[in-house]
Order: sequence, then structure tokens, then C-alpha cells
Amino acid sequence: MKRRTFFKFGLTTTALALLKSNGIFGKPIPKEEPKADLIKRSNIVISTWSHGIKANDEAWKVLSDGGKSIDAVEAGVRITEADITNRSVGIGGRPDREGHVTLDACIMDENSKCGAVACLEGIKHPVSVARAVMDKTPHVMLVGEGARDFAIEQGFEKCKTPIKEVKKDWKEWKKENKELLRKPRINHENHDTIGMLALDEFGNISGSCTTSGWAYKMHGRVGDSPIIGAGLFIDNEIGGACATGMGEAIIRIAGSHTVVELMRQGKSPQDACRLAVERIISKHDDLTGLQCGFIALDVYGRVGSYSVYSGFNYAFQKEDGKNVMVDSEYNRSW
Ligand code: ASP
Repeated sequence: MKRRTFFKFGLTTTALALLKSNGIFGKPIPKEEPKADLIKRSNIVISTWSHGIKANDEAWKVLSDGGKSIDAVEAGVRITEADITNRSVGIGGRPDREGHVTLDACIMDENSKCGAVACLEGIKHPVSVARAVMDKTPHVMLVGEGARDFAIEQGFEKCKTPIKEVKKDWKEWKKENKELLRKPRINHENHDTIGMLALDEFGNISGSCTTSGWAYKMHGRVGDSPIIGAGLFIDNEIGGACATGMGEAIIRIAGSHTVVELMRQGKSPQDACRLAVERIISKHDDLTGLQCGFIALDVYGRVGSYSVYSGFNYAFQKEDGKNVMVDSEYNRSW
């Protein structure tokens, strides 16, 4: 081999090896070895907000029966979707300005398979329709009438929305809020998605996310929740993340994907959530009412969460069977 050819070849191989060892090809960079007690393949479920407690209980039944994380995250959030007292998820959710309850949901498994529906009306379990999109179609997302037609064709339960009490509230809201573009303040009553992440005994992570979105939003508005990479992202080599809060801000930084990629670079779930929130903050001059929060779970079973404002919390169920609310760390108080 001529000296020049050898030099060129040698350089390229060295460069490639270097890139590989630095994780350029997508492998996790083990900055520090996880402690032995973190490398356990035990069941874990986390989900956003206090409605997560009941949802976790249901997901836990699946996991403790030796079930898969994808089945757990679907079963878990169906509880919240079916709860007609819940005003931010499922059929009890608040409508848009025109009085339509439009539901958004997605689901993602350990093989990076995913499904989503957006702007779906009058179907009880959007997360299961999202699962059917994933399992039974060549697509990832169906929206609006197409999503509804598909759901009906698949035999999903229909229902009439908005429910009576919600319709009454909406009529009052319309009287009091003539100015169409007025932003409602994000609070527990009108704006709380359920996002769920689960790790099963096979060491696999899956996630789900479902919401009725921002109360009194513009008709046709879709938030982050059904968007893979924004409201939810799973990479079974690394972990998963999901989001809640103002969807527009979360989409702007591809929030959940960002959290997972930060974990890939060696950040803990906690630091990854914090850095993603800090990125959201850095992209907005006006943070008024801009609440966003992330939860994350990695393959070692470590969890994290962080939000822009105080008040965000999540339900956490792990091996000892305890299902508790955990207050998230945050950047600032309301
Ligand atoms: N992220 C959801 C949306 O923007 C709402 C929420 O999480 O509260 O539609």
C-alpha cells in the first residue's frame, strides 16, 4: 500500500472509530456507569398529574401480571379517558370555541412503533384508536373525520360530546369571552394531559399520551400530545419522555424527543427534563401562563421531571407497590 493511501485509509478508520465511540451513530454514551442498584428490570409506571394515580393502578395490574409495557400504558390512560368528571382528557373534556370536543392521543412501543389520532370527535378511547392505527394500518397518524371513520369501522365505542355540564360551562364561557383570541390561563381545570411511561420486567419501555387539549382552543387546533417527538417519545435503548402544558411551546423544541436525546448524551432523566424546559424558556420572551412540564424514565429505571412553573406533579408507582404523587422541580413560581 502506498504511503499516501495508507495514511488516508488509516485516518478515515481512526476518525470512524472515534465517531463511533462518541456515540455519533446514535449509541448511548455511558458517561458514568449506572450504579448497580439502578440496573434492575423492575416494573415502573409514571404518569402526569393527580389523575395519574388511578391510571397507574390500572397499568400496574397489567405489569404485575407479567404483561407488556405497551398494554400497560394503553390500559392505564383509558381509565382517565373514561372518567367523565375529568375536564382535560377524554369524553368529559372541554370543547373548542365552537363547542366541539376534539381529542388527541398517541402511543409508542419499545420497537419505536407508534400510532396517533388528532382532532377525533365522539369516540370514547382515543388512545386505543391510536393503538389500532399503530397495529392495523401502515400509517402513524389519522386526523379528524378520517380518524373517526377508522375508529367506527374498527368498532370503537361512540359517545356524544360535550357532555351536558361541559356544554353549559362552554355557553357561559362564550358569553364572558367575546374576544376570540384571548388565551385561557393554563390551570388544572382546563389544561392537563395524561402522559404515561412504563417499564416492564422485560426491560421494555412504552408510553402513551391523551388529552382533550387546550380548553376553548381554535377549532382544528392540535397540540403536542398526539405528536410523536413532542408529546411523547420512546427509544428503548435510552428511555422515554412525555409532556404536558402548552403544546405550542413543546412542539417548538420537539420536547419529548429532546429529553430522550439529552438522556442519550448521558444526562440523567432529571437533568434532561430540566434542560428541555430551559430550552423552552430560552425560546420565549413572554412566559406568562406558559406552563410546560416533562416526565422521563430511562432504561435503568431512573425517573425525572421538571416544569416551567411550580404546581406540576406526577404519579409514581414502582416495585414496592406504592403509588405516590411526586412534586416536580420547577424553574419559577407562579
Ligand atoms: N399539552 C396539551 C395541549 O397543548 C394540554 C396539556 O397538557 O395540558 O393540548
